Amino acid sequence: MKSWKCIEYCGACCKFDLNERAHLADKLNQEDIDLINSMTAKDGWCKHLDRQNKKCLIYESRPYFCRVTEFSTTFNGYLKSGDKFLIDCCKQHISSNYGLKSDEMKRFKIAVSEK
Ligand code: SF4
Ligand code: SF4
Repeated sequence: MKSWKCIEYCGACCKFDLNERAHLADKLNQEDIDLINSMTAKDGWCKHLDRQNKKCLIYESRPYFCRVTEFSTTFNGYLKSGDKFLIDCCKQHISSNYGLKSDEMKRFKIAVSEK
C-alpha cells in the first residue's frame, strides 16, 4: 500500500482558490476563511510561502488547516481511503500549479512509490 509523504521544495497546496476547493466549504468557518483571505497574495499564493525555496516560513505555527495529518481526519475521503486520498489531493495541487510533467510531480510520485 502506498504511503503519503510531503516532499520538500513543493508548496503546491499553498495556493488558495476557495472557488476551486468546494470540498472545503463545510470544513472551514468564517474565521478560517478570513484568515485564508488575509494570508493570500493577489496571485493566490500564501504570503507565508518562501517562494524561492518553496518552504513554509511559519511552519511551526501554521494554521490547523495546513496540518495535513490532522486536518485530513475531518474528511470522509480520508476516513474511507486513507493515504490514497492524501496522495490524490497532492497530485491535484501539484498538477494544477506545476503541471503533470513537472519536477514536483516526478519527485512526489517517487516519494510515494508511484513511479
Ligand atoms: S502538495 Fe503535498 S507534497 Fe506538495 S507541499 Fe503540499 S502536502 Fe506537501
Ligand atoms: S501557512 Fe505555510 S503551509 Fe500554510 S499555506 Fe501558507 S506557506 Fe503553506
